[in-house]
Amino acid sequence: MRQPLVAGNWKMNGSRESVAALLEGLKAGIGQVGKAEVAVCPPSIFIPQVEEALRGTPIAWGGQDVSTEASGAYTGEISASMLLDFGCAYAIVGHSERRTLHCESDELVARKFAAARGAGLKPILCVGETLEEREQGVTEQVCARQIDAVLDREGVAALADAVIAYEPVWAIGTGKVASPEQAQEVHAFIRGRIAARDAGVAEGLRILYGGSMKPDNAAELLAKPDIDGGLIGGASLKAGDFLGICLAAN
Ligand code: PEP
Repeated sequence: MRQPLVAGNWKMNGSRESVAALLEGLKAGIGQVGKAEVAVCPPSIFIPQVEEALRGTPIAWGGQDVSTEASGAYTGEISASMLLDFGCAYAIVGHSERRTLHCESDELVARKFAAARGAGLKPILCVGETLEEREQGVTEQVCARQIDAVLDREGVAALADAVIAYEPVWAIGTGKVASPEQAQEVHAFIRGRIAARDAGVAEGLRILYGGSMKPDNAAELLAKPDIDGGLIGGASLKAGDFLGICLAAN
């Protein structure tokens, strides 16, 4: 039985004050969230503040990105061991905004995955197609290519400690959510692809849906057999909305 995971991706949002208020709201409501594991991924500058506030609570935290390198002359980068040092459990890799805006290739994402995992973080590997790719009917090929870059480099066993987030790019931040059937179809494809290499790893792997998930559409998405939680952008910035999604995962 896979424990659902609901992870918030705060992206580049927040201030000391708003982060403190959000964390207070999450702490106040987390007691009602029984089953799901909950995590937040703040901008890295807020990680010490998040660590201070969440240490000793059931809420985990992680980075939104991680360097491929361990240390050295890489201005602006943050290494996996630094994230670990500040209590992070997770690191998102390959978010579509990084693939698009920062030109991150499948190969680079696979190296980030390896760096995160090598340091003891659980990577959350984001995959998903653009609208154009969906319309061309190549959704499965795109997801397969993005996942295979990691599998071919790290081997299927590397996914045992990892999470995959299926995030159709056309649904991210647009308010256009994939239908539960559309999402389930791709999630089942992803699990099947991994099962072809290792059925046990595939069975245990949590595959999150991401893309305009909100409290009012979460329950029907999360009811699907291969949707094991959510990666939440906009709705993770309001404690009530985020907790509403966490409750729907119960
Ligand atoms: C995301 O960026 O990972 C995401 C799912 O964003 P949103 O929920 O805002 O669509």
